[in-house]
Amino acid sequence: MDQTKSRDLLDRARQTIPGGVNSPVRAFTSVESAPPFIVRGDGAYLEDADGHRYIDYVGSWGPLILGHAHPRVLAAITEAAGRGTSFGAPTEGEVALAEKVCEVFPSVEMVRLVNSGTEATMSAVRVARGVTGRDKFVKFVGCYHGHGDGFLIEAGSGLATHGVPSSPGVPASTAADTLTAPYNDLQATRALFDQNPEGIAAVIVEPVAGNMGCVPPREGYLEGLRALCTERGAVLIFDEVMSGFRCGPQSAQGRFGVTPDLTTFGKVIGGGLPVGAYGGKAEFMSQVSPAGPIYQAGTLSGNPIAVAAGLAVLEELYSDPSNFDRLETGMDELATGLEAAAAAAGVAYHVQRVGSMGCGYFSEEWVYDFDDARRCDADAFHTFHTAMLERGVYLAPSPFEAFFLSLAHGPEEISHTLTAAKEAFAAVAAKTATR
Ligand SMILES: *Cc1c(COP(=O)(O)O)cnc(C)c1O
Repeated sequence: MDQTKSRDLLDRARQTIPGGVNSPVRAFTSVESAPPFIVRGDGAYLEDADGHRYIDYVGSWGPLILGHAHPRVLAAITEAAGRGTSFGAPTEGEVALAEKVCEVFPSVEMVRLVNSGTEATMSAVRVARGVTGRDKFVKFVGCYHGHGDGFLIEAGSGLATHGVPSSPGVPASTAADTLTAPYNDLQATRALFDQNPEGIAAVIVEPVAGNMGCVPPREGYLEGLRALCTERGAVLIFDEVMSGFRCGPQSAQGRFGVTPDLTTFGKVIGGGLPVGAYGGKAEFMSQVSPAGPIYQAGTLSGNPIAVAAGLAVLEELYSDPSNFDRLETGMDELATGLEAAAAAAGVAYHVQRVGSMGCGYFSEEWVYDFDDARRCDADAFHTFHTAMLERGVYLAPSPFEAFFLSLAHGPEEISHTLTAAKEAFAAVAAKTATR
């Protein structure tokens, strides 16, 4: 595949931008191809600098649930921009977006808008610490909550233990306040509470884990976390930055019927522009400044253009209740088709999915946690990824990333994808045979 222009752009970018990209996973470091530099997107498609066209299953890493350049979203952005780009003063659009979120999620009585998922999770943990007067929090191995210091923590080997930073620059003192347990392991979480009675402010969890592929909660897991937090006086935070709006009309919390104290949003809520949000119980959110003493602020928070885009996406998404069914049906078709193609080629592979997010794992074993995800065949993934890209299908360049469907992905796109997948799985089988 000719990548001349993308490779030139990458060389140029590397002179001034670390690694040539503004977020690490874009660099395609774990796969053979250079990252295609994108020039435009429309509907389900992307076009790169070398003129290749791809069916896009990354969707800007989740936000683009309507696809690229949706007319309603473009109109909202243009209209808002025409009235000015930023005021640093309240606008009606922010109120409308907050009301929409509170309307959709019964657990969210009040909400604060920020500029990214990272800001949302950092702020939610601050609220939890502020209202409980405790410092420590629990996160799960393989869950990603943005790049805030306290979240960049891996578990020590074996039993869950005090966090060890997974990046230089995270102070040991910060890491010491992050406790980790394997995902889907209620007993390990209970043990952390037993070891730290009265010390844990919050449990933060991706109710469907989307940063180690797509890992649904085991039956009773979220309920168990809910009961544990209630019993021990800790705040339960659902990080729905990715699962939000993707796991059904009320996201993961509605789908699994478990009510968190606080929820964080990002990705879809901004419709492709930078918006994040955190919200929940009024009792807690009313402690946020200036209503209360817990400080959190942002010069561009609630930016009128970003808010207009987010609102347009949510209004379009909820304008027809069958939209969520369509996403789910499309995902069913894609997943069963991929599994059939893999089986026909004799490749060990299965898809895990919830709503419009999913992940294909090169393994026959179901993935419940990060260790399971790491046991899948990474080489097979790399071969598959390259073969799909060459056939016009753009997947995230990492076996630990989810794929996303948008309302712009129709039967034609899915059928093209499955045709490409048959050949790609054959390439995997051929390569495995020579290994
Ligand atoms: C993407 C993501 C974040 C971080 O959001 P950014 O907007 O990239 O800062 C946080 N939590 C989860 C679950 C995510 O998937």
